Amino acid sequence: MRDPTAFLKQEYDDLVRQEIDWRLKVLDGPSTPWCTVDGKKVLMFCSNNYLGLSNHPKLKEAAIEAVKTHGAGSGSVRPIAGNMDIHVELEKRLAKFKGADASLVYQTGFAANAGLIPQLAGQGDLIISDELNHGSIIDGVRLSHAERGVYKHGDTEDLARVLDNADRAEKPPRRILIITDGVFSMDGDIAPLDKVAKIGAEHGAMVYVDDAHGEGVLGEGGRGIVSHFKLSRSMVQVEMGTFSKAFGVVGGHVSGSKDLVSFAYNKSRTWLLSGSHPPAVVAACLAAVDVLEHEPQHVKRLWDNTARFKKAMKDMGFDIGRSETPITPVMVGESGKAKKLSARLYDLGVFALPIVYPMVAQGKARIRTIMNAALTNEDVDFAVNAFQKAGKELEII
Ligand SMILES: *Cc1c(COP(=O)(O)O)cnc(C)c1O
Repeated sequence: MRDPTAFLKQEYDDLVRQEIDWRLKVLDGPSTPWCTVDGKKVLMFCSNNYLGLSNHPKLKEAAIEAVKTHGAGSGSVRPIAGNMDIHVELEKRLAKFKGADASLVYQTGFAANAGLIPQLAGQGDLIISDELNHGSIIDGVRLSHAERGVYKHGDTEDLARVLDNADRAEKPPRRILIITDGVFSMDGDIAPLDKVAKIGAEHGAMVYVDDAHGEGVLGEGGRGIVSHFKLSRSMVQVEMGTFSKAFGVVGGHVSGSKDLVSFAYNKSRTWLLSGSHPPAVVAACLAAVDVLEHEPQHVKRLWDNTARFKKAMKDMGFDIGRSETPITPVMVGESGKAKKLSARLYDLGVFALPIVYPMVAQGKARIRTIMNAALTNEDVDFAVNAFQKAGKELEII
């Protein structure tokens, strides 16, 4: 008889043969600047924990306290019996932090995009995406019955072209939704959201920004890309984000008008049909918002470290791409070489993973570094020295 599961091994073996399978690294203990990866003490240089909040004492204490007061789990989905006082409080605090009328917290950022996007645009509508948008946006768009348009990465003239074509169509779309990442995670460049919002307004389109890598990083005190460009909420109607990156915990969220939030929680299937955050998670997220409001030094430190690292890398002759943020790609070119550089860096005590085809185009392999506010100057210099040594050995510089 044919084995109905034979494809599992075949397809996995294929990935291994092409060397594009994930070989998971194990972190022993917390995600701190110096941490233990696969049994070796290394400098963490590729986590999304930009501000070091995942191990901040206030977040840890809040999580422990919430277990004592509210238990280990929430007991249900939020629309039935899993909507605790702390879930509501978190949304109020987040909206205030963001300067929005209302916020809604999802289980993850992925769940926010996959749940909300298909509800915002359907049959007869048009969704227009930047070509390099995150996979969770792509999946959200796939779940929608709307027409799809794509514009060239960061190219607002191309966006205008797609919008003009839509306006001229025999049957123009009922609604138009423009979606872009705020910060693009592979290159670290910032979306021209000011221009996107202006063009969107001219065409009566709704604008949705996924600020997963901008929150806690860009804008006043880490308030994100809308704050960075000083845009009004009437121009960027949907600001989506995550608690899993700079906030150091886990969870997705959407901020905007009260109408947006009422619509979102009544319609997003991911929100309605999946259990709510356990109390420890909610309380840690609340503490993260609190830390961002009261300890501005972390965001400042992140940018100081970023400037120090970028300058040193440039001075040594590395190609560090077009990043404008604490994500610094170290361009290598060929996949094999990027893997070798990563392995050598690990030997030298720096943990930074290669990003290779198919995650980026062929010939664009790189080490993607992400800066962290918890690093000292000595830590940054330690990484720079490791890059110098390995870069020379591999004739990259
Ligand atoms: C990480 C990321 C997400 C997913 O967020 P999670 O909360 O981790 O699910 C969505 N969009 C972008 C741009 C991201 O970088």
